[in-house]
Parts: sequence; C-alpha cells; structure tokens
Amino acid sequence: MKVPYSEVAATNGRMKDELLATIGRVIDSGCYSGGPFVEAFEDEFAAYCGTKHAVAVSSGTSALWLAMMAMEIGPGDEVVTVPATFVATVEAILATGATPVFADIDESSYTMSPEGLERAISARTKAVVPVHLFGQTAEMGAIREIAAGRGLRVIEDAAQAHGASCGGRRAGALGDAGCFSFYPSKNLGALGEGGAVTTDDDLVAERVRELRNHGQSRKNHHVASGWNCRMDGVQAAVLSHKLRMLEGGNQRRVEIAAAYDEFLAGCAGVVVPAVRKPDHHVYHVYAVRVGGRDRFIRRMAGLGVECGVHYPVPVHLQPAFARLGCGMGDFPVAERCAGEFVSLPMYPGLTGEQAGIVMAAAARSCEVEACAGVPPVIQSH
Ligand SMILES: *Cc1c(COP(=O)(O)O)cnc(C)c1O
Repeated sequence: MKVPYSEVAATNGRMKDELLATIGRVIDSGCYSGGPFVEAFEDEFAAYCGTKHAVAVSSGTSALWLAMMAMEIGPGDEVVTVPATFVATVEAILATGATPVFADIDESSYTMSPEGLERAISARTKAVVPVHLFGQTAEMGAIREIAAGRGLRVIEDAAQAHGASCGGRRAGALGDAGCFSFYPSKNLGALGEGGAVTTDDDLVAERVRELRNHGQSRKNHHVASGWNCRMDGVQAAVLSHKLRMLEGGNQRRVEIAAAYDEFLAGCAGVVVPAVRKPDHHVYHVYAVRVGGRDRFIRRMAGLGVECGVHYPVPVHLQPAFARLGCGMGDFPVAERCAGEFVSLPMYPGLTGEQAGIVMAAAARSCEVEACAGVPPVIQSH
C-alpha cells in the first residue's frame, strides 16, 4: 500500500524522543491518575478552546455521558442528536437513561439540520447534541437560537473538531458544554484513551469533576454516585506536548484538503465536502461522496490507496438501536450519505507525493472516468 488510510504510529514515532522524555517525567512524579499533569493540560486545553473550564476525563464517550449527567439529564427526558455520527453519541444519551431522538443532517454540511431539529423537539426535549462531523462544526448559530427559544441545553459532540470554529469561536465554546475525544486517531490524540468536557458553566464543570471521581466533592465525601472516569497522568502529559502541534497539524490538513477540493471538484461523480465560510473546518476526515462506492474503494486499493468509510450504517439503522423504533426512510439524507461516503487519506504527515497519488487514483476510480488533468502539486513538510 503506497498510501495508508492512517498513520498514527508514524506521527507519534516522529516525536518519540520527546514523548519518552515526557512520560519519564510522569514516571518520576508518581502522579499517575489525576494530579498536576492533568490540571496543567486542563488549563492549556481550556485556553485553546476559549472556555473557562476544561475537565479531563477517560474518553470522549465518558465526556458526553458526564456532561449530560452534570446537567441532570435522565429518564423521561429526550435528547435530540443526529443519526450520522459514531454510535458513542447515542450510547451516552442512553447511558443517562434519557431517550435519543434523531434529526436528519443537512445535505451539504453533513451536520444537524436546524429545521430537522425543530421538527424533533417535543415537550420532553431537554437537550440537543449536535455533532461536528468530520471536523466542521454544526450550524451553531441557528441551533443555539432554537435551543434558547425552547430552554434546551446544548452539548457539542466535538470529538472530531479540535480547533474548528464557527462565528469566530472554537468548538467546545459553542454550547453549554463541549465534549472531546483524544482517541489516538483524532486531530489531538493521546497514546491511549482520553476525553474532556469544556464549559463556561461553573456548576457543570464542578459536577463533571465530581462525577468523574466517584462523586467526591472532597476526599471521602461523596455527594453523587459517579464513576471512575479520570484521566491518566501519562495521557495528560502527552496531550500537553501534542497540543502544541495541533494548529500546525490542522493547517496541514487544510492545505491537503484545498488540493483535494480543487482537483476532485473536476471529477464527474465525486462530491467534495462543502465548507461554510468563514468558519474553520479541521478535516478530521476528508469524505467525498461517490456512487458505486464499493467499486471505487476496490479500484483505489488496486492503485495503492487505502480508504475508510465513516460511517456505512447510520446509527438509527444499527441493530443495537432498533428499540428506538426508527427505520429505513426516516432520515433520508443521513441514509443517502452513509451509502456514498468515502474517506480519503488525510493526516498531517501525508506527503505531497502521496496526496498526488490519492488524487490521481481517485480520478481513475470514479464512476465516470471523465477526470482529466494533472493533480496539483503540494509541497511536503
Ligand atoms: C471518537 C468519537 C466519539 C467517542 O470518543 P471515544 O474517546 O472513542 O470514547 C464520540 N463521538 C464522535 C463523533 C467521535 O468521533
């Protein structure tokens, strides 16, 4: 394979010496769970997102769950989200005891349709969880306005959107709380699991801090029944180090996306991602839409390019969620997109030569082989 879909090991390998030194400091300190490395990372990440607080937790899934628990969302409540997401969004809603209700996505941004949200709201709706799919934020201005009019809390699923922005504010600072994942392949990835809840709300931050640590408000005083969702010192120290590389990595993703956009927009049968300007897309995933996806992916593989699919089955059609009573045809845009999405290789370490191979292969792999021209040349870093 000339161009792998992802290369997390190579990315971390390029900073292995610094990472080993960082981990060495944690070993020497004895602060392995919570503690000073976690607190330092929380301050840095809150400053990066532009929020008053960041509370580090064990994963993006626990960030979503704890943010909703902190807002006292539970049995009897409905939470509106989208079917075009990773299942964790819906699992976290169910884990609170609340009922997930879906709103379809917008055909161009692939994020929650504000009209769909309005239709999904009922008297029981307590919150809305828009998902910043692929690294572009949902239409947060419109969503916040609808939520404010109905008294709903807004919880961003920002697991794919570290550094993305909307209306001049960064993901994580666009609702009542932002939930991040630091799963290794995310734009900001740990050497294992991690997550964070960002918020300006003192009470939400305090509750998430308690809940992630067995509901303790101070040592041996348990004010709630929580869970163990603490972050490791090693992951926090690694994330502090890698946070300094996030902007550069995101810029490189944007550069690669611009070349992909320019070239692939000229390929018949390929739909390139639409960006809502002047908001900032961080391309966690660069997904195009093609007809005849399986054949496209096979041809790409034959030309040495590995592709991904995010996500082939929308959440409402997964067997685990059949009990929610949704079926084929309920969310036509999400269903159509799920059948057409193909994720092309996209990571800061992708070389100019590799990007050229991806573009040339895509031009030869689409339904109509009408893609003339030579892919633009982009510099390697
Ligand atoms: C990765 C991801 C999550 C879950 O994060 P984990 O850290 O793996 O628990 C949730 N939502 C979305 C949209 C994601 O991409």
